[in-house]
Amino acid sequence: MAEDKRKRYEIVCPYCGKVQYACKSMLHEMGYNEAGHGTCIECKGFMKLIYNPESDTMTAEEWETVKPDRKGGLFG
Ligand SMILES: [Zn+2]
Repeated sequence: MAEDKRKRYEIVCPYCGKVQYACKSMLHEMGYNEAGHGTCIECKGFMKLIYNPESDTMTAEEWETVKPDRKGGLFG
Protein backbone atom coordinates (compact mmCIF):
# COMPACT_ATOMS: atom_id res chain seq x y z
CA MET A 1 0.00 0.00 0.00
CA ALA A 2 1.52 3.31 -1.05
CA GLU A 3 1.53 5.92 1.61
CA ASP A 4 1.61 9.60 0.86
CA LYS A 5 4.22 10.92 3.24
CA ARG A 6 3.86 14.51 2.17
CA LYS A 7 2.64 16.71 4.94
CA ARG A 8 -0.62 18.53 4.45
CA TYR A 9 -0.96 22.08 5.61
CA GLU A 10 -4.16 23.66 6.76
CA ILE A 11 -5.06 26.81 4.86
CA VAL A 12 -8.05 29.14 4.96
CA CYS A 13 -9.47 30.58 1.76
CA PRO A 14 -8.96 34.38 1.75
CA TYR A 15 -12.22 34.83 -0.18
CA CYS A 16 -14.79 32.61 1.52
CA GLY A 17 -13.02 31.33 4.66
CA LYS A 18 -13.25 27.64 3.74
CA VAL A 19 -10.69 25.55 5.63
CA GLN A 20 -8.87 23.12 3.35
CA TYR A 21 -5.52 21.39 2.98
CA ALA A 22 -2.60 21.85 0.65
CA CYS A 23 0.75 20.16 0.13
CA LYS A 24 3.97 21.97 -0.52
CA SER A 25 4.51 22.51 -4.22
CA MET A 26 7.68 21.67 -6.12
CA LEU A 27 8.63 25.35 -6.00
CA HIS A 28 8.15 25.40 -2.25
CA GLU A 29 10.51 22.43 -1.96
CA MET A 30 13.06 24.36 -4.01
CA GLY A 31 12.93 27.28 -1.60
CA TYR A 32 10.57 29.60 -3.42
CA ASN A 33 8.36 30.04 -0.42
CA GLU A 34 5.93 32.48 -2.02
CA ALA A 35 5.63 30.71 -5.36
CA GLY A 36 2.73 28.41 -4.59
CA HIS A 37 -0.81 28.75 -5.82
CA GLY A 38 -4.06 26.90 -5.63
CA THR A 39 -7.76 27.02 -6.26
CA CYS A 40 -10.35 27.04 -3.50
CA ILE A 41 -12.46 23.89 -3.41
CA GLU A 42 -15.45 25.95 -2.35
CA CYS A 43 -15.54 29.24 -4.29
CA LYS A 44 -12.88 28.41 -6.94
CA GLY A 45 -10.98 31.55 -6.00
CA PHE A 46 -7.36 31.65 -7.10
CA MET A 47 -5.06 31.75 -4.08
CA LYS A 48 -1.40 32.43 -3.55
CA LEU A 49 0.10 29.84 -1.19
CA ILE A 50 2.97 31.04 0.94
CA TYR A 51 5.05 28.54 2.88
CA ASN A 52 6.54 29.72 6.17
CA PRO A 53 9.63 27.63 6.95
CA GLU A 54 10.11 29.04 10.45
CA SER A 55 6.73 27.93 11.69
CA ASP A 56 6.26 25.12 9.14
CA THR A 57 2.86 26.43 8.12
CA MET A 58 1.14 27.45 4.90
CA THR A 59 -0.79 30.68 4.37
CA ALA A 60 -3.27 31.41 1.59
CA GLU A 61 -3.61 34.95 0.30
CA GLU A 62 -5.63 36.65 -2.40
CA TRP A 63 -4.01 36.51 -5.80
CA GLU A 64 -3.47 40.20 -6.57
CA THR A 65 -1.09 39.92 -9.52
CA VAL A 66 -3.72 39.54 -12.20
CA LYS A 67 -5.46 42.83 -12.79
CA PRO A 68 -8.27 42.54 -15.35
CA ASP A 69 -8.24 46.25 -16.15
CA ARG A 70 -4.60 46.23 -17.13
CA LYS A 71 -3.53 46.13 -20.76
CA GLY A 72 -0.49 44.46 -22.23
CA GLY A 73 -0.58 41.09 -20.51
CA LEU A 74 0.47 39.84 -17.10
CA PHE A 75 3.99 41.20 -17.15
CA GLY A 76 3.58 44.13 -19.54
ZN1 LIG B 1 -13.00 30.07 -1.21
